[in-house]
Amino acid sequence: MPEPYADLHLHTCASDGALPPAQMVEHAAALGIRILAITDHDVVSGVPEATRAGETLGVRVIPGVELSTGGGQEIHLLGYGIDPSDPALLAFLSGLLASRMARTLAMVEKLRALGFPVTAEDAQGTGEFTGRTNLARAMVKLGAAKSVREAFVKWLEPGGAAYVPRERLSVPEGIEALRAFGAVPVLAHPGRTRIPDGELSARLPGWIGAGLGGVEAYHASHHAADAQKYDRLARSHGLLVTGGSDSHGRAPEGAEIGDGSAAWRSVREDIERLLEQMTKA
Ligand code: AMP
Ligand code: MN
Ligand code: MN
Ligand code: MN
Repeated sequence: MPEPYADLHLHTCASDGALPPAQMVEHAAALGIRILAITDHDVVSGVPEATRAGETLGVRVIPGVELSTGGGQEIHLLGYGIDPSDPALLAFLSGLLASRMARTLAMVEKLRALGFPVTAEDAQGTGEFTGRTNLARAMVKLGAAKSVREAFVKWLEPGGAAYVPRERLSVPEGIEALRAFGAVPVLAHPGRTRIPDGELSARLPGWIGAGLGGVEAYHASHHAADAQKYDRLARSHGLLVTGGSDSHGRAPEGAEIGDGSAAWRSVREDIERLLEQMTKA
């Protein structure tokens, strides 16, 4: 297998990843990655540290973010080329973090009612972010679950005893927000989201109209045939093709850095196009 070259989807402990940004970049560099994107959920505070580490190690770091959209559905967007010090972006994200906190408090309440002594701090990243993965890790630490996966199944995913849904932007609202902050919006892991092909084809023109710029065809959760299908679909609409592992920094629990991109043959040209569009956005 060729050495991985790029990974445009990574989480750090600023959101629900396990490792600090500099360590993610160090691991990526050790694996041969030359260009990566930090795409924490709803926060950009990990970007400056990652950028500095990348400068030291000769790894290009694209500043990114991942937004959960889709209204009642869970459809994720990646935004590439954000400015992590943009006050308008930070104000927008702090609204999302507040809605996360309200939901976290509701989930913590349910878990406490079930007898588990968790607190909102247990669900926190290094900043204001709170999320389910962090809470799942706290349940593992308490000995209540053997793994993060088990904690999700028992309590934190739809159908779980402490699950609380979150209010989400619609997909076009998310796309428009990312464009407003100068980012290139990309549809994240459509295969993991399990959007049926017919629905994706039907909705894509509207999303492109709102400003969608690309599709994450290569992702650690996509089978080879699906990756090729999304690659062709994106190109047929003139969209960018991107790829990333979605690593949260703790393989084998989740994906390893670089996973999912082995079959991404045109990775260099595709990233060149993304970088061009980022300068125009
Ligand atoms: P949140 O954004 O707080 O709703 O948490 C969503 C995150 O939890 C995702 O980005 C994944 O990292 C993780 N996740 C979602 N579902 C599961 C699951 N069934 N098992 C393990 N991790 C999950
Ligand atoms: Mn996550
Ligand atoms: Mn996602
Ligand atoms: Mn992700």
